[in-house]
Order: sequence, then structure tokens, then C-alpha cells
Amino acid sequence: MTVRNRRRAPHATGTKRRNPRAERDINRSPSAMTGGTGPTGRRRYDPRAARGQMADSGRRRLDRSGRGQTVVSMGSAATTQSAAEPRPIVIDQPAFYILAVPDCADGRPSSQDRDILGAARTLADAGNGGAVVALDFGGRAALGPLGADRVIDTSSVGDDYTPETRMACVIAAIDLLAPAHVVFPDAGINGGDLARRVAAERNQPLATHCQRVAGDQVISRVDGTKSEVYCTPPLLIAVDAESAEPVAGAPREGRIIEFETPEVDTGIRDLGPVPVDPASIPLAEADFILAAGNGVRDWETFHELSRALGASEGASRVVCDAGDMPRDRQVGASGTIVNPRCYVAVGISGAPQHLQGITDVENVVAIDVKANTPMQKRADLGVVGDASTIMKALLRRLEAKHEAA
Ligand SMILES: Cc1cc2nc3c(=O)[nH]c(=O)nc-3n(C[C@H](O)[C@H](O)[C@H](O)COP(=O)(O)OP(=O)(O)OC[C@H]3O[C@@H](n4cnc5c(N)ncnc54)[C@H](O)[C@@H]3O)c2cc1C
Repeated sequence: MTVRNRRRAPHATGTKRRNPRAERDINRSPSAMTGGTGPTGRRRYDPRAARGQMADSGRRRLDRSGRGQTVVSMGSAATTQSAAEPRPIVIDQPAFYILAVPDCADGRPSSQDRDILGAARTLADAGNGGAVVALDFGGRAALGPLGADRVIDTSSVGDDYTPETRMACVIAAIDLLAPAHVVFPDAGINGGDLARRVAAERNQPLATHCQRVAGDQVISRVDGTKSEVYCTPPLLIAVDAESAEPVAGAPREGRIIEFETPEVDTGIRDLGPVPVDPASIPLAEADFILAAGNGVRDWETFHELSRALGASEGASRVVCDAGDMPRDRQVGASGTIVNPRCYVAVGISGAPQHLQGITDVENVVAIDVKANTPMQKRADLGVVGDASTIMKALLRRLEAKHEAA
């Protein structure tokens, strides 16, 4: 057996010995060695000071915002630059078309809209050389990054309730492109209802409540979701929420196709939306969510605040497990993936399973007694303090605002 004497005197063999610690410290900036002195008398390294210098020295900072921006400092003047955008994939001569009809309510693609563009992409790629064409009623959404090779701009239709006009647009697009498949979200008046109108008008079978879309097969829920039906993909396919994956990777070109929006006089006059109780809106469709976590004890104030804000209520799994909120309000990997315009997390630490449920949310506000939770790091606005105190302060502000109005 060979035993190595680790305390052998330096240079005993005549070879120069390495001192990895000293080498590491040479590479570290002297001003980063500000972490005090350790028990052995060595100066300690302060990673925070080093991180601060990384930004000042022009090296890239980690971007946790997910918005693709990099803070770069050039000399003393710090500038903000967009990270290099990947080149869009261009299909000049498509072998065939897949038409996707996202809802894009308020000009914003919902998570289900992203999913149906993903389902359309799957069908296009399965057939080799297919292109996805998105019919964009919103007219304001960037659909290329979501997987659309072409976009038909039908924004002149507007957000009003115009089912016949929308149906005429879809039928005109079918006549123009002769797509292999048309994919709708199976939800709401502009998704599920529109798909059924087109199916009736064209006398075509429609695969409804699709749970899975592949090139050779779609799986639908039937019989009150008790049974599944497998079939080859028909022309018209309506996909349920959370039943396909959004497109990942390089964006698509999103080239605009010339299109004349058909004029249909239906005699319908839209008198505007009727206010609905935010509590009755499914989480996946909610525009504004106030979510409670384990840090919430004052439930009366929480419910009062959600009513005052007009927000739908969400919750972490811990809260649902404890029975403080119904299970259908759980946000996260094993709950609902949400995509509201604004998500206010009260007393939620931000476990990975919870953060997976808010990946695409534009604006996150975190209220927590701690400043360094993962949710605070994910948030665009962090509020540090007791949940009950802050919720009551918010309520007072809202009341004062209403009185002043
Ligand atoms: C397979 C699996 C799937 C899961 N799926 C999900 C899921 O879908 N969704 C989900 O949410 N979780 C899910 N979880 C659970 C997840 O891991 C966490 O346990 C959970 O999200 C924690 O919930 P929380 O943030 O409310 O609680 P905690 O982690 O306990 O956080 C409570 C937060 O409240 C703060 N706080 C305490 N007191 C106050 C106060 N007075 N005022 C303000 N803040 C305060 C604390 O500082 C803390 O940050 C899953 C776990 C597993 C294993």
C-alpha cells in the first residue's frame, strides 16, 4: 500500500508545488477580498463585491428577467442592449399550410393561444415543409416568435362580438390557402364557438376537446370527458387548454399575407362587455390574479382586497392543501399555468413548482416579509412587509381613490 504524506515539506522533491488557493486569489480582484479574515488569518473572498464588479467591468450580468436584455457597461457609461435575437426561420415555398386561429383577446395571445400555435407547428413539421399561418384578429400580437410563418392581419374585425364576420374570415382563409388543418382553441366564443360555426357552415367534422395533437393522430375527450376518441386529424381541430406545448426555439418569419377582410352585415350590435364576477373566471383566462400563499393568515382582508381590485383569486399548493382555498385556484406545475397581465403574490415563497405556473406573466408583484425569496427575485415589483398590514394599506388607498373619484 502506498501512503502519500500530504504534509511533505515544500520543494522536498525539487519540483515547484502549486498553491491553488493563492492562484485563485491572484485571479480575484483585490477589492473583492473584503470578506474579512478567516480563522487561519487568510483574507476572505466576498462574492457579492465580486458580482458588483462584474457589472462594472463590462462583463455580462445574469439576466433573470427573461426579457432578453443584457446590461452592459462600457467604460463608465452603462447602456442597455437587446441580447442578439436568433434569426427567424423562413419557409419560402411551403409544401402545405396549417391555419391557426388564436383568440388573442385584447391583442394578447393567451397561454392556450400559444399552445394551439404549438399544435399547428407540430402538424406542419410532421408533414415536412408545412407552414403555419396565423389568423390574427387581435392585429397587435407578434405571432412569428410563437411559431407563425405567415400572419393574416384581420385586425379590422376588431374586438367586438362579430361571430359571422370572424367565421367569414376563417372560411375566406380556408378558400385562399386550402390548409391541411385548421386549429382553434376550444374555449370561449371566439375559439370553441367559432370552430363549431365553421364546421356547421362547411359541413365538416370537427375534432373537439383535443387533448393531444400529433401528425397522424388526435385524441379527444368525449362523453363528458369520461372517454377518449383517437382519430386521424380532420380538417378542423379544436384543442383544449393545457393540451399542447408552445413553440420553443428560433422564431418564425411571421410574414404578412395580403387578405381582404370580408364584410358581413349581420345586424348584430355589440353593446359592450357585461361585467363578470372575477371569482367565476377560470384561472387560465384571468387577466389579473391576487394569489395567496402560506404567509397569508388574514383571509378576510385577502378576499376584501381581491374584490376591491376586481382580481381573480389564486393560491399556492400549501394553501389549497390546507383547505383555505379551493383546489381549482391552485397556480403552478400541478395546478393551472396562468398568464394574466398582472400577478400579485402575497406570502408566496416562489417554489419552482409555483414559478412554473407564472412563467409567461408580464408583471409580477411580490409581497413577503422576506426580501430574498425566489418570488421576490422573479418579481418586477417587490414589497417587503407583513401581508396583512400591506393588504390593509392597499385597501385604504383604493377606498381613498374611490372617494376622490
Ligand atoms: C410534485 C410537486 C408538485 C407541486 N406543485 C405545486 C404547484 O402546482 N403549486 C404550488 O404552489 N406548489 C406546488 N408544490 C409545492 C411547492 O413545492 C411549495 O411547497 C409551495 O409552493 C409553497 O407554498 P408557499 O409559497 O405558499 O409556502 P411557503 O414556502 O411556506 O412560503 C410562505 C412565504 O410567506 C412568507 N411569509 C410568512 N409570513 C408572512 C407574513 N406575515 N407576511 C408576508 N409574508 C409572509 C414567507 O417568508 C414565505 O416566503 C409542489 C410540490 C411538489 C413536490
